[in-house]
Amino acid sequence: MSSTEGAVLVQLRCRNCGSDLEGLPTDVIFYCSNCGRCWIFDEGISPVRVQFLRDHGPGTVFLPFWKVDAVVSIYQRISREGSSSSIIEGFRQFTGMERGLTENQPETRRDRFIFPAFATSLVLSTGVRMHGENFLPERQEHGRTLKVRGGSVGLRDAVSLARGVAVGVEVSRADFLACVDLDMEVGAADIYAVGCTREGHVLRINGSDTALPLSAVRDREGILEEG
Ligand SMILES: [Zn+2]
Repeated sequence: MSSTEGAVLVQLRCRNCGSDLEGLPTDVIFYCSNCGRCWIFDEGISPVRVQFLRDHGPGTVFLPFWKVDAVVSIYQRISREGSSSSIIEGFRQFTGMERGLTENQPETRRDRFIFPAFATSLVLSTGVRMHGENFLPERQEHGRTLKVRGGSVGLRDAVSLARGVAVGVEVSRADFLACVDLDMEVGAADIYAVGCTREGHVLRINGSDTALPLSAVRDREGILEEG
């Protein structure tokens, strides 16, 4: 095959059926459109579960998202009244209550975070917006050839990003977050192939208010390319 700027295209084959796996040069997540298995060529090769959702027919492209199920422990969470005054006035340190701070009870909960597995500058904000929505897998028509391109975020990065989204979710709550100390234990991480549709200059997640400007998606040409 061809090489550009020293980059070599590696021929990847599905470990299950031997078909060629199609992807972009920076991809690490490969969906086999022949047998329906999904693989991560990251640190070694591992199978990953993939489920399709939000198929809205013609014009739909399936983009890879990480779906991370985790137990989130919030050890400390302090919120502030929106109007609290500066803490550096005067000569003494103001108490938390004077500063309008409230400390919540520690809590542990199971949570799910869904965010792009393709390269975008908006991965965290997209993940925070998707957190408020219900994404459920759907049954796919048998025998249909589906493509999932652009998955360049590996598992290790996905785990770090999930933590970032969890913090973002806390920040986006209605109160004013002053401080949060949380920890996360990842139970399962797999792929959601979410139907998206190009609308002018944005890529909209089907059935959602969430859309990404195309300019924020690094591999947009390769992802949206027909065929
Ligand atoms: Zn295969």
